[in-house]
Amino acid sequence: MTAARTPTIVHRDCYVDGAWVGADARFDVRDPATGALLAAVPDLPDAAVERAIAAADRAWAGWRRVTAGERASKLAAIAAAMRADERGLGALITAENGKPLAEGIAEVRYAASFFEWYAGEAVRLGGELVPASRPDQRIVVTREPVGPCALITPWNFPAAMLARKLAPALAAGCTVVAKPAEQTPLTALALAAIVDAVGVPAGVVNVITGDAVRVGGRLLRDPRLRKISFTGSTEVGRLVLAAAADRIARVSCELGGNAPFLVLADADVERAVAGALVAKFRAGGQTCVAANRFLVARAIAPAFVAALAARVGALRVGPGAEPGVDLGPVVDDAAAAKLARLCADAVARGAEVAVGAPPDGSTRMIAPVVLTGVTPAMAVWREEIFGPVVAITIVEDDEDAIARANDTDAGLVAYVYSRDLERAARVAARLDVGMVGINEGLVSTAQAPFGGVKASGFGREGGHWGLDDYLAPKYVMTTLTPGGAS
Ligand code: NAP
Repeated sequence: MTAARTPTIVHRDCYVDGAWVGADARFDVRDPATGALLAAVPDLPDAAVERAIAAADRAWAGWRRVTAGERASKLAAIAAAMRADERGLGALITAENGKPLAEGIAEVRYAASFFEWYAGEAVRLGGELVPASRPDQRIVVTREPVGPCALITPWNFPAAMLARKLAPALAAGCTVVAKPAEQTPLTALALAAIVDAVGVPAGVVNVITGDAVRVGGRLLRDPRLRKISFTGSTEVGRLVLAAAADRIARVSCELGGNAPFLVLADADVERAVAGALVAKFRAGGQTCVAANRFLVARAIAPAFVAALAARVGALRVGPGAEPGVDLGPVVDDAAAAKLARLCADAVARGAEVAVGAPPDGSTRMIAPVVLTGVTPAMAVWREEIFGPVVAITIVEDDEDAIARANDTDAGLVAYVYSRDLERAARVAARLDVGMVGINEGLVSTAQAPFGGVKASGFGREGGHWGLDDYLAPKYVMTTLTPGGAS
């Protein structure tokens, strides 16, 4: 049991052009549960960042010509290696991110599923023969890899956010320079070690760490990196888009959410509560798809709040590596302070505390809180909560629920609970989001297009849509020899 909970810290250095590269300047990676130092990773100097970009650029010429079958087998091998060490990698995720070990392992499986899915897609990456306007012409359309890509990822899913980008990029024939978040670089470096071990050629995958503005900014600006795929906050997403506009780079942005969770008057309360627990508390509420605003029909609200309160009150908070823990710490002190601010603002504006005590920002171990009477005037309504705070508002009917659900700049995901699937489908159709869960609190899966609308960004990760983001159609028109067969 003890060994199974030991994180696999494979490398503390960056992976550049098939080699491990250190640096004199380093920054600490700490366990958010204990503050213990896990490792110090490079604040990579400019010259080494340049080597990584140059390597991705050089390696592209070879990788794009590797057969689809070979690319697929590398992807499958990465997935197999991840699954073979799912407990070690899961423990590493828990160590640097804080989520419970069971969730760390589940994330490894979820991340591996993207390599498996895109291993399958790689070999189906065909083109088209389009009917031409003249009998002596042929129009052939191929799908070309867009080129070397910059992949910038957040800390909340250290393996999965990288896998959702890396797997389709490699399947498409792109090379990458990836920069993980400063809180959670070790999982990305462990994935780099797997990529290396399965024999992906040097330079195809580069994983670098360092100062966000200097190192990340360099990736955003370098014209050799023809596509930028970014997952993170809407605030940084704006910088990414500005940089991409400046040099006309392809860009995908998976940004913040503010998910409404609609409990219609005819919902099955137990099902809605079970879905709410998943949609709200996975990763301690620190997910872009976390239910942010619960919109509950007046008729069902007392039963829903009572049932949810009972379940939430029983959740156990503690270090993610400890058995039986439901919620780990929030990722850092800034996250704890934000939750304290949001709760204080809500209570000052009239919200009531149904369960728990509003956090005061003094600890990262945040006991879950259920707030009722939340209004659009409160910061919890407008901002991504990103923590174990449930914000409940009563709505009068489906129209009211839809209007309030759409009252946000974000448009990533929404959840709808109802016994009447036709009614739920009608509501879902009117929600301005990229994804909807009907009687389902977890929508993320490798074969479906994950992504948002409005300020939640654009681009999709998962399914064939995720692959399209790394491909550009190229058509070749050929005029046949006059008089030849047509
Ligand atoms: P973040 O602060 O925006 O950081 C994301 C990544 O961008 C990190 O690697 C960060 O590096 C880097 N970065 C920060 N400033 C940069 C700059 N000026 N230039 C280039 N790179 C820069 O987001 P986060 O706090 O890690 O993640 C939480 C956010 O991600 C939430 O808003 C959440 O909703 C969103 N998210 C969205 C999705 C989705 O699919 N829609 C999925 C997961 C998370 P450093 O860590 O070194 O600062």
